[in-house]
Amino acid sequence: MTLQEKELEVHVVASGSKGNCTIIRSSHSAVIIDAGISCRRITKALQDLEIPKHMVEGIVITHEHSDHIAGVPQMIKQMGLPILTKHNTARRLMDKFSLPLECFQTLGATEVTIGDMVLQPFSTSHDAVDPIGITCYKGHTKAALLTDTGMVSKEMLAHLHDTDLLVLEANYDEQMLVYGPYSPELKRRVKGNAGHLSNVTAMKVLSALRRPKNMEVIFAHRSEQNNSLHLVEQLSERLLAWCKTQGQEGFTAHHGDQKEYTSIGIDGK
Ligand SMILES: [Zn+2]
Ligand SMILES: [Zn+2]
Repeated sequence: MTLQEKELEVHVVASGSKGNCTIIRSSHSAVIIDAGISCRRITKALQDLEIPKHMVEGIVITHEHSDHIAGVPQMIKQMGLPILTKHNTARRLMDKFSLPLECFQTLGATEVTIGDMVLQPFSTSHDAVDPIGITCYKGHTKAALLTDTGMVSKEMLAHLHDTDLLVLEANYDEQMLVYGPYSPELKRRVKGNAGHLSNVTAMKVLSALRRPKNMEVIFAHRSEQNNSLHLVEQLSERLLAWCKTQGQEGFTAHHGDQKEYTSIGIDGK
């Protein structure tokens, strides 16, 4: 079966502090989540991934940090797509890029239908005005994205149960952060409740989730200075071994990258 026959596909186009962009698509529609890389790279990704431009319904922006919004003005200019985000985030983008209100569709607390997919935003804990994570349903198939959060509350966890494909932040290794090059202030920011998720916390989140059969996980937003692919792999293998000893469902681990696409498809139920 080719990727395009799957119920939902998730393509992490770029992931990390230099820029984030993920595309979720069904057979009929697609949505871009965050545009923190250039418009040129995003349109090239659409081409490479064989996603026709007319299928793309909009761009969801999780929060206003530049690694999530850098490509927004050019994307609006070139593709004329609506920007879906929280009211306060929209205000920040309007000010920063001098964009008119018409470019935005505000997300509330309730779900929105985009093409044949249903998106449900939920609040996260990050030093931005109104940061969100996203769950996306197509029928009974569920994908979710949670990056840029300093902690995971019970409410956030509740949104993530039974997710078939989860993009989850594993930003830093605690030792590497402590002994790494960041200033004391930046270290505090990253570790704080409104910062980023450590590898260990990401694994704890994953172990606390109700996991469906064949769950796919893409670890994302990995820090270049304070983390390594090897460390994330090691921890996720340990967690998998633990799941086995507990007789619990495991997961298949994948890893987002700054330059390479990570593409995973999930079957309908
Ligand atoms: Zn951020
Ligand atoms: Zn970020």
